[in-house]
Amino acid sequence: MREKINLKDLQFNETEALMAELEEPKFRAKQIFAWLYKGAENFAQMKNVPHSLAEKLEERGCHTGALKPVKVQVSKLDGTRKYLFELDDGNTIESVFMKYKYGNTICISLQAGCRMGCRFCASTMEGLQRNLSPGEMSEQLLAAERDTGETINHIVIMGTGEPFDNYENLSAFLRIINDKNGRNLSMRNITVSTCGIVPAIRKFAEDFPQVNLAISLHAPDNETRSEMMPVNRKYPMDRLIEACRSYTARTSRRITFEYTLVKGVNDSRSHAEKLADLLRGMLCHVNLIPLNKVEETGLDTTGRKDAEAFCSVLEKRGIPATIRRELGDDIDGACGQLRLRRKK
Ligand code: SAH
Repeated sequence: MREKINLKDLQFNETEALMAELEEPKFRAKQIFAWLYKGAENFAQMKNVPHSLAEKLEERGCHTGALKPVKVQVSKLDGTRKYLFELDDGNTIESVFMKYKYGNTICISLQAGCRMGCRFCASTMEGLQRNLSPGEMSEQLLAAERDTGETINHIVIMGTGEPFDNYENLSAFLRIINDKNGRNLSMRNITVSTCGIVPAIRKFAEDFPQVNLAISLHAPDNETRSEMMPVNRKYPMDRLIEACRSYTARTSRRITFEYTLVKGVNDSRSHAEKLADLLRGMLCHVNLIPLNKVEETGLDTTGRKDAEAFCSVLEKRGIPATIRRELGDDIDGACGQLRLRRKK
């Protein structure tokens, strides 16, 4: 039997090649590709696609890759919606829909599970199950649009998984979602967050200089960082910071450093001072994130007052910093929590 084809895994030129293979005119690729990113769930909804072509596509094992959420949690505080999707093979992934003043944003997952092992994170507790395909990435946005009836124009890749551990599919996804024949979503409206895989940061600056980059830093020195994030043993901080400096030089884009405050681990005044020294002169912004408590880790959240003190140390030393507004606080906000809870 031939393999199934998720049409959302295909680039536009690959869709054209498929039409050629099915002995269909080229313009059918344009129609189908456009429908996919308007959110069509099946071929019947593709109004200008004839039944005969729909049959050929089905025979060839093609499908739209449409997903329905198996669970939706809606925040009563701010309308944030958290989705749990089940994939064809039974794996589950999470996405979060958020409303901001500047528009609607979807936070998507790039892997089922994660193998980075960050100590405070729920997504990595059961390791990596598998990489997501480009179509499974796009579909998280499209399914949320179908559910909310709203248009989503910003993507943050901060869900489950390490994007640079799935670089090839990430690249394919960025090209597909940006394609003018389909969604045409601007690269400037996309942010990718990484735990700091140095060679990939360098490659990303070359491949996608318009996409925003966020780095999960979480500590100002190797000792603290290696304790929190095993990836730091492979790519220590001097190499990471050097890659960040060459990223800003290459792209002229401001890097966001994410810094999750964990009580008694990385939140002292001297941590803040060291962080300010480390980032001095860099085109950047520090996003301080109060730890979302994950029971299993035994780690605790830094209080509001201490977070504010940390923030003002940075600001006084000329490092732009803010404390992240917590959306969806009442619905298992932290990465991977919904997924983890379901299994219990
Ligand atoms: N693998 C990518 C994206 C993952 S999650 C990365 O590491 O950047 C997005 C952000 O949430 C990361 O900064 C991550 O470290 C942080 N995070 C994970 N678990 C958290 C928790 N329990 N509380 C607060 N932030 C968390």
